[in-house]
Amino acid sequence: MQDPSSATGPGETVLIVGGGIVGLAQAYVLCRRGHAVRLFESGSGFAGKASHANGGHLSADSGAPWVSPAVLPELVHWLFDRHRPLSVKPLAMGLAGWSWLLSARRHLRLERYLESRSRLHALTEFSVTVWQRIESEIVSPLAPGQGVLSLYRSPREWDRARGLLERERSLGIQAEPVAAGEVASFVPELATAKVRPAGGIWYPRDRFGDCREAASRLAGWVGSHGGVLHPDTPVLAIEPGDGSVRVRTRDGLWTGRAVVIAAGVDSLRLARPLGIPLGLCPVKGYTRTYPVSPLARRGPALIDHSRKIVLTPLGEILRVAGMAEFTGFDDRLEPRYLARLHETAMDWFPDLAPVPSTLDWACLRAMTADGLPLLGSTRVRGVFVNTGHGPLGWTLAAGTAERVADAIEGRSSP
Ligand SMILES: Cc1cc2nc3c(=O)[nH]c(=O)nc-3n(C[C@H](O)[C@H](O)[C@H](O)COP(=O)(O)OP(=O)(O)OC[C@H]3O[C@@H](n4cnc5c(N)ncnc54)[C@H](O)[C@@H]3O)c2cc1C
Repeated sequence: MQDPSSATGPGETVLIVGGGIVGLAQAYVLCRRGHAVRLFESGSGFAGKASHANGGHLSADSGAPWVSPAVLPELVHWLFDRHRPLSVKPLAMGLAGWSWLLSARRHLRLERYLESRSRLHALTEFSVTVWQRIESEIVSPLAPGQGVLSLYRSPREWDRARGLLERERSLGIQAEPVAAGEVASFVPELATAKVRPAGGIWYPRDRFGDCREAASRLAGWVGSHGGVLHPDTPVLAIEPGDGSVRVRTRDGLWTGRAVVIAAGVDSLRLARPLGIPLGLCPVKGYTRTYPVSPLARRGPALIDHSRKIVLTPLGEILRVAGMAEFTGFDDRLEPRYLARLHETAMDWFPDLAPVPSTLDWACLRAMTADGLPLLGSTRVRGVFVNTGHGPLGWTLAAGTAERVADAIEGRSSP
């Protein structure tokens, strides 16, 4: 429980470290609540890391923790599958990776998974309603596409997914099974696909849109409503004081009543010197962007569930995203994983035009073992965190910004 005397009131300055979708949503929510906001971003522009070219889904219902009881039986198949969605580099992944894998084991149990799934769903559902509110406030549709169809390649995976579906629906998740023969009526564009899926799950409430575009709109709004944005300004250290907190940049020290660490995977490096342990692990993902989308811009978007790859129409373009590579803080592009994304995309859309490699992208997700983000106050007075959104940062950013703003103001959060 936070000490009420440390609550930050309207008008008081809050410093935010990180100008990805999470930091910018935080800045937006705090500005709206009347706080003075100052945001620092190391890059020359905003949303240049994980928020730059992600899968684009606002996963109200499909967003689930990665570690689930379904993973264990799949591991054996993945050993022999060139298209396995997971790659572990034991020497490169470091201590954070190893301790993450050890704690992730607990979440392979069904009861644990359902508990995390339920808590995560409460947050994704809440966040999507906050995004709707923000869209109406700034009069701009940030996620214009509607509906996501998750496809299963093998009867084995499809049976397992259906088995879990009833349990998930009892948590309030809206999802419908789709038989193999019905897939074509959902997505006529799959008529020429090389794969015949064993079945699918339809998520009517899931939406999609361009995360980077949304981040840029939020930055524009914050900048024109009194917030101060400092691009190209890495925070070198956070220095807690008595009743205030300072951040050190190469331009000097900035003081606020509170600071929010929203620096994606780099939150680990900023929090460590303060003695704040964050159970995060960097997990690399890849995206390819095709100039012309075979899917209609209004939807649905697809998930190739067997390969954990999403295919999302974003206006004229198609974004293909996936892969979980445990390789420490190395965010370089590896051609073989990009080739796998392309092969998967061609399975569904054999006529897809080639992709310019300049649009390929790799970045690190900040993952927790249970899939839930790390939010709110820390053991250091005035220092708050909003990180660990893993594969769902675009989905969760609006909701977690509200929760962390409540914590900064000393109000309890549901
Ligand atoms: C392949 C892939 C597909 C994905 N698809 C989806 C999806 O479909 N839906 C979804 O909801 N999510 C998706 N995600 C996850 C989502 O992209 C991330 O969770 C989200 O972008 C995290 O946002 P963030 O602001 O926390 O981190 P980032 O976007 O990484 O932002 C952190 C920022 O902090 C800055 N920073 C770091 N250190 C400092 C410092 N010392 N000083 C100042 N600034 C600093 C960085 O430069 C960076 O800009 C996907 C991720 C990947 C990799």
